[in-house]
Parts: sequence; structure tokens; C-alpha cells
Amino acid sequence: MLAHPPSAPITIHNPAFTLQIRLKGGLNPGPLAERSTGFRYANAGYVYHVNSDLSGRPTYVTHRLTAGKDQTEVALVGRLGDLEITHVFVVKVREPYLDEIITVKNVGRETIKCPDIAFGFAHSLAGAGGGKRIRAGLGDARFLAVPYRRELLGRAGEYQDYSIEDLKGQGYYRIFTPGAQEPFPKVPTPEFGAEGWVWAMPGRCLVMLKHSQEGIEHSLLRVERPGKARSVLRFGGAGVWHGDPEAAVALQPGETVRFGGMRYIFVEGDWKKGYYAFRQAMEEFGHRVPPAFDPPVHWNELYDNKLWWGPDTPENRAKYYSLPQIEEEAVKASDIRCQALYLDPGWDTTFASTLWAEDRLLKAAEFVNLMRDKYGLAVSLHTPLAAWTDISAYPVEARRKDQDGKVLDALCSGAPAYIRTKSERLIELARAGVVYFMFDGSGYTGPCDDGAHGHSIGYSRQEHCRSILAIAQAVHRAFPKVIIELHDPVVAGVPVRYAPTYYMHGLPGSFDEVWAFEYMWDPMDDLLSGRAISLYYYNLAYSLPLYIHIDLRKDNEQALEFWWYASTCRHLGIGGKHADQKVWAAHKRAMRQYLRLKEFFVGGAFYGLQEAIHVHTLKERNRAVVVAFNLDDKPARVSAAFRPEDIGLDAGVEFMVSGAESRQRGSEYTVAFELPARSAALAEILPADQRP
Ligand SMILES: [Zn+2]
Repeated sequence: MLAHPPSAPITIHNPAFTLQIRLKGGLNPGPLAERSTGFRYANAGYVYHVNSDLSGRPTYVTHRLTAGKDQTEVALVGRLGDLEITHVFVVKVREPYLDEIITVKNVGRETIKCPDIAFGFAHSLAGAGGGKRIRAGLGDARFLAVPYRRELLGRAGEYQDYSIEDLKGQGYYRIFTPGAQEPFPKVPTPEFGAEGWVWAMPGRCLVMLKHSQEGIEHSLLRVERPGKARSVLRFGGAGVWHGDPEAAVALQPGETVRFGGMRYIFVEGDWKKGYYAFRQAMEEFGHRVPPAFDPPVHWNELYDNKLWWGPDTPENRAKYYSLPQIEEEAVKASDIRCQALYLDPGWDTTFASTLWAEDRLLKAAEFVNLMRDKYGLAVSLHTPLAAWTDISAYPVEARRKDQDGKVLDALCSGAPAYIRTKSERLIELARAGVVYFMFDGSGYTGPCDDGAHGHSIGYSRQEHCRSILAIAQAVHRAFPKVIIELHDPVVAGVPVRYAPTYYMHGLPGSFDEVWAFEYMWDPMDDLLSGRAISLYYYNLAYSLPLYIHIDLRKDNEQALEFWWYASTCRHLGIGGKHADQKVWAAHKRAMRQYLRLKEFFVGGAFYGLQEAIHVHTLKERNRAVVVAFNLDDKPARVSAAFRPEDIGLDAGVEFMVSGAESRQRGSEYTVAFELPARSAALAEILPADQRP
């Protein structure tokens, strides 16, 4: 027997919003309205879609309302066929956000296939008269993807920033197939997915972010007609987006899937305030610069080392990757005052064996001591994982098996023999004094049916990600301070993100930094084409550190490239000595300045005045560094106005600007830079009574 639902709606609210939940006639959360304006973000029936046979309002089963001092929680339970849906909303008394968690359970005896399962609030697009006119308020609305308003492969002028009309069309995602050539084609999709969205309207916005450390999930938007009714914009909730989360594509009898949490943040201000609110939420989830983070500036030997550019053979390793060649790089690193020598492919016995090549480079500990004592350098290593490796360097039990039980010439990242061997070798290197590992080659290793591996038959992407986590955890258990950088855990070293950027970060013993999307080969072109402008948006949305190394041979005499990546990647690596001595001298000057201000770039709060004017603020010192860029091929004057509180400085304190023209009018400051073509300049903002 099903219980009778209460006839009156449940209302939960705080100062930011009100949510009504109707239960009579089936579960129906909404409207969801902003208190200050009365605007109803959700003004139509909540969408519950399992598959073409199962959709509509879930039958009421029960509900529970728990009101505490700090928060109110409502748990609704309903049924759609054999699917039991538990729908939870949490409202904090003092926080301007609503949290939503959806769990589904197959209580029947048949598998439920649901590759396009989707739940979400709905906003009606129909005008009051039923015509095509969009409701007042929505016509001005913009929907911005977070964190990649500029997509990683997007060009100047291209933005993932849509009107409601745009959302009626097609979105896209980038497909990555191992072995495919760039440019990873866009695959059209009617559902728009991102880590978060900002629904921006004049003076206010709603941030809709998804946070899932289990399955890979996205925050989704779709214009659709549920039950052939009028068009709505569906937002929030949960759902499968091109195959993820894998666990929710089909539900076996008895199986439960708990989707990641959805957070709706009500923000006063423009879309940038929405981005900052997203960043604050991610910081609260643990995705932030760790306290006292001080990663060594890397010198990468790869750019000037012929091994990378020629075939990787034992002969070439001996010829190009023995101690004399590596010491030449250490001399450059020391000359420009880098803090660590980063060894890209070549330092180990064979590609990705992770076994130190003692015959060419002394014993690992001896090499580490030599670098420290002779050059003042720490040692960092490229240590690619199972997808990009010489498989003969690992036990045969670590290989994949196909459906017929045939052993394949490829490693399974989930094989215990692989995880154990890799972890032991990394720990051995950390014991020798290595301070940093780059987890490149982190791509999904593919299906595997070896029952002895202990993973599910088939091996999911999610399990693969967990296997990577296990290696990071093993290293960090033994050497907690070693810095681990992880590339995308599904597609690895390509300028595409598959998993959300925060995915698995912050879990105990997990990685410390994210790879800055392969902008290492032609960093100047990445910048001038607009692709690397994505890093500006990333920093508005995340303080989780990015790592990059850049090819200085592509830079100019103004060190434009150096400063762009120094300003957008909290952990910086450089390499490739420029042939022009004037450029090398400019790089040495830039490094001196960078090192003097390093704590601003590594640990400061990032504020964007414009795509080409960045601020790095140390709040506790009430000081900031401004970096201004001119990407144009002719001289330009760039300027921006701000109030101290806009950039994390104390209101009511008088500041002075050193290194740029400045003007003060009331509480507003203007900084201006006269910049040569394709150049960068720095200024410092400090309290006027701390004049240097
Ligand atoms: Zn396997």
C-alpha cells in the first residue's frame, strides 16, 4: 500500500530562495524562486525521464522532513515503474545555495535500460499567451559553461556562452578516439554539458554545478518537450550524458546508483561573480591551492634534447640522454634560476619502465645529489601510466585479456600486478629523492575481461580512474610531500577534458595538480589563436593548481608567452633555450621578477579584470600583482578600473600602484599600461603606507 501524500505543498526556504514541493498527484519539486526578485528559475513541472517507457511524475511513496538549527533536509521517495527514486534537497539557513541529490534503485526483476535517463528542474519557454515569445526575463539571459567559457580548442571570438535561442539548437562535445588525429571533432548533442553553468541575467545569476567523485557527471541543460507538452529548459538534477556515468546507463535488479550532488547558487552580480561563486564552492569541496604550496619551477630538458625528436632507441638514449647531455640542461636550468630539472622521456631503462637508467645517469640517489649539490636543482620526472608504456617492462599478468581470453599486447591499468609494480617503482624513486611525478599516459586502457584482475568484466572508465588513484595513494602514503600531476584520467595528454577537472582531486592521497591541456608544444600559437585564453576562464573558476611546461624557443623578446603561462598556471615549467641571446636575457630577467613575486602567482587569489589583465592577490598581506598583456601585433594602451574589494583587497584602505600609470577617483582605481606589440607588463598594488 502506498501512503497518501500531504495535500499542501512543502515549502523550504532561506534568505536567497524558496522551493515548493508538491506531492499530491506525484512528486513535483518546484517552483524554485529567488526571494529578492521573485524570479522563478523553475516554473514548470520537474522532469523525471528514465526511458521512453518510464517518465512523468513518480508516484508518491513517502517523504521525510528534517529541520535542524543550521539546515533543513527534505527526502522524497517515489516510484516510476520498478524504479525507486529518492530525491533529497538540503537548504542551509545561512548559505545562498540549494543542494540536490538523486538516488535511483531498481526494485524490479528486470534490467532497466536508461541510456538517456534525465532529471531536472524545468523553466517554461512558452509565453503567457502560448505563443512563441520567450517569457520576459529569459530573452536577456545567457548560459555560460564553467570553467571553459573558452573551450580548450576554441579560437578567439568563440565562447560557450549561449542565449536561450542557442540552447534550442545543438550543443557539442569533443570526441577523442585513441590514435585519432586532431582536431578532435565536435559531436553535436541536443543536451549541453559542462562542469557547471552560469545562468546570467542582468544583475544576477544562478550557478548550477555538479560535483561527483563517483561516476563522471556533468551539469546538463536541454530544451525539450516533456510528454509532448510545451517546451521547457531542463536544468540541474542528474542524468547520463554520452555514456556517463556508466553505472546509470542500465540498472540491474537490486542495483542502486547515487548521482553526484547538484548545487544551485543564487548570486547577485554578473556572470563573473557567478564564476567566482563556482570557485568558492569548489574550494569548499577541497579543490584549491594547498596551504604553503611552493612547487619548484621546472626546467624541462625535452625541447633541446634530440632524443624526443628522433626515434626512441637504446642507441639514441645512450647518445642523447646520458649524463653529459643532461648536465648541459642542468647548466641552463641553473643559469635561469629554475628550481628543479624535469626529465621528460628518456631517463628510465625503456619508455615508461619507471626504472632509473643507472648505466647512463648514475644511481638515482647519486643523480639527485649531484643535481642538488652542483646545480641547486631538485629532480622531477615524467612517469607515464599504463596507456603509454613499453609493456615488456611490466609483468605479463598485467596485460589485458579480450572476451575470448586471449592476452593482448597492451596493459590493463586495473591489473593488480601493474598497480603494485608501478607503485613500487615510483616509491623507489621518491626514496632516492625525486620530488615530482607527472602522470601522463593516464588514458583509459580499454576493455579487459581478465577475471583475475579483480575488476568488473569489461572494465569501466570509472574503475580505470580508481586504479590511477590507487597508485597516487600508494606513493603519497610513503611520501606525502611528493607532488603528483595527473593528466585527464580518461583521455590523457590531449587538449580535451573528458572527466571534470576536479575529478578525484581532494580524495585522500590523490593527485595535487592538473595538466594544463597540452599547451606545451606551441604555447605562443595557443595564446595568439585564442585557445589558451581558456586558462583565464579556468582561473576564474578554479584555484586547483595547473601545471604546464612551455617551449621558450617559441617566445619573443617581450617574454609574452612566459608571462601568460606564469600568470595562469600555478606550477610553471619552462625549457628550450632561445637561440637569440636577447630573448634568453629577457627570459632570465622575467624569471628574476617571477621568483621575487612567486607566492602571488602560486598561492594568490586570481581575479580577472579582462582576459588580458590578471590580478593575483595575497589577501593576508593586502597586496596584489597585476599582469597586463597586449596580444595585438601593434602597440596598445590597456587599462582597467577596479575597486579594491573587487580584487580581494581591503575596502577603505588607500593603495598605491607601482609599475603602471594609475588614477584614483573615490574608491575606484584605474591602472593603465602602454604596451609594445605582443608584450606583457607587471605592476604591484600595495597599501600606500607600505611604500617600498
Ligand atoms: Zn584487467
